[in-house]
Amino acid sequence: MQTSAQDVLQRVFGHATFRGEQAAIVEHVAAGADALVLMPTGGGKSLCYQLPALLRDGVGIVVSPLIALMQDQVEALRQLGVRAAFLNSTLDGGTAAMVERQLLAGDLDLLYVAPERLLTPRFLSLLERAHEGKGVALFAIDEAHCVSQWGHDFRPEYRELTILHERWPQVPRIALTATADPPTQREIAERLQLDRARRFVSSFDRPNIRYAVTQKDNAKRQLLDFVDGHRGDAGIVYCLSRRKVEQTAAFLAEHGHAALPYHAGIDAGIRAANQRRFLREEGVIVVATIAFGMGIDKPDVRFVAHVDLPKSIEGYYQETGRAGRDGEPADAWMCYGLGDLVLLRQMIEQSESGEERKRLEHRKLDALVGYCESMRCRRQVLLANFGEEYAPGESGADGAERACGNCDNCLQPPEAWDATEAAQKALSCVYRSGQRFGAAHVIDILRGSDSEKIRQFGHDRLSTYGVGTDLDARTWRGVFRQLVAHGLLEVDAEGYGGLRLTETSRAVLKGRQPVMLRKVAAPRERTRALRAA
Ligand code: ADP
Ligand code: ZN
Repeated sequence: MQTSAQDVLQRVFGHATFRGEQAAIVEHVAAGADALVLMPTGGGKSLCYQLPALLRDGVGIVVSPLIALMQDQVEALRQLGVRAAFLNSTLDGGTAAMVERQLLAGDLDLLYVAPERLLTPRFLSLLERAHEGKGVALFAIDEAHCVSQWGHDFRPEYRELTILHERWPQVPRIALTATADPPTQREIAERLQLDRARRFVSSFDRPNIRYAVTQKDNAKRQLLDFVDGHRGDAGIVYCLSRRKVEQTAAFLAEHGHAALPYHAGIDAGIRAANQRRFLREEGVIVVATIAFGMGIDKPDVRFVAHVDLPKSIEGYYQETGRAGRDGEPADAWMCYGLGDLVLLRQMIEQSESGEERKRLEHRKLDALVGYCESMRCRRQVLLANFGEEYAPGESGADGAERACGNCDNCLQPPEAWDATEAAQKALSCVYRSGQRFGAAHVIDILRGSDSEKIRQFGHDRLSTYGVGTDLDARTWRGVFRQLVAHGLLEVDAEGYGGLRLTETSRAVLKGRQPVMLRKVAAPRERTRALRAA
């Protein structure tokens, strides 16, 4: 068995050796057992079901929610000489009927099916007949996290996939996902009745990705600086809103980059054309909302940039994971400011979701903000969120935490400064101005600005007016952002996003708690230093 798997790997797929856990997974599934595979994007999940399907009798049924990807995969398999086909809503009746005939005749090695299609009585009865014929080799459930209602890719039909196990208990099942967080993994096992399946968990580390987070000052300029350092490279720039996608794509194009917009509001034809250009041409940048990316298999994406804060650390990991799938160096760069945090808090609070869901989303956002503000190795923080301890190399015996040497915090260790006095001024100014203004206005008061708004509210008469001229506006923005991130200030997310004190602010105001903050490096210097490293 071992030799024939190795043989098929070379002969059909053209790979010399298995990667990571692939060999063990293939052997396990080919022997007829169930598996739950957790492997990061680019890890080589497809082979884990494609190869056992070829080793076993009958057809391998692959459930996938990604219609665009189905076609690509089937084409790639056919080029390798594998008898593959797909069934989804894009096929015309004639073609679908032909695929069904092939299925019944036992002429297919692999059949990709959209979940809603698979669950139709018609398809299930076809499957019954196929099973009685040459048989079903296995069921592969790709993107298995779609079963989780807490994830953003929730597909209700995934919940019903247990029918496969109930009807054909002897056919092995393999569920696969690149979702790294343990609660989702537990939910997959439970919902798909895979509690007893063997789990194959790969490390989620992507060592070739260099992580960096920088404070937002002039986002467009900062993005341009970053992208200029990647001239000729393919990349993805993520924005929160469709409007921002359009603006950012136009801005990059004005500055000589082949940047194309992508979001759900763009005409389907244009969207598909933009995606094709990104996949086929070199050096194309796609500026997108998160609608773009799931199932995009482009190995040489050299950077992923976030100009807005993603909603969770899982989302961030998934999105950045689209960079560097070929294993070559790639950048994951994010530019974030207090405004992002305020906006996301408001979006959560003002959504239709129930209280439980809102709490969960706030917590997810907290974890991401913790990552952004951390002074530790980013990789350690990221992997710790997925319950994984980062321990590269063999020399972890002394138990010391090891840093990755390939993130901004490792390459340019951030400095901390005693910001106790600045924090007291900031908190006091928030309090005196009535706890209803945003950071920009409070900073104007601290810096003694002469603005219309300040005069209108009489804020030039506050005792804190002008007490903060010792720090520049950028430094103040860093102070406010970190005070919010550390829970010393909170955002009124139900209203206009004004700042107010929290339970913990008092200790700082009374001088009982010192505040150490991260020093904000000048963004340009920072980008340059990272590039040189
Ligand atoms: P995933 O689905 O986990 O994101 P894929 O299955 O698309 O990953 O594989 C990612 C890339 O790695 C593909 O280009 C694939 O051809 C390649 N690959 C997978 N397994 C091997 C292997 N054993 N040796 C070399 N390349 C491999
Ligand atoms: Zn690091």
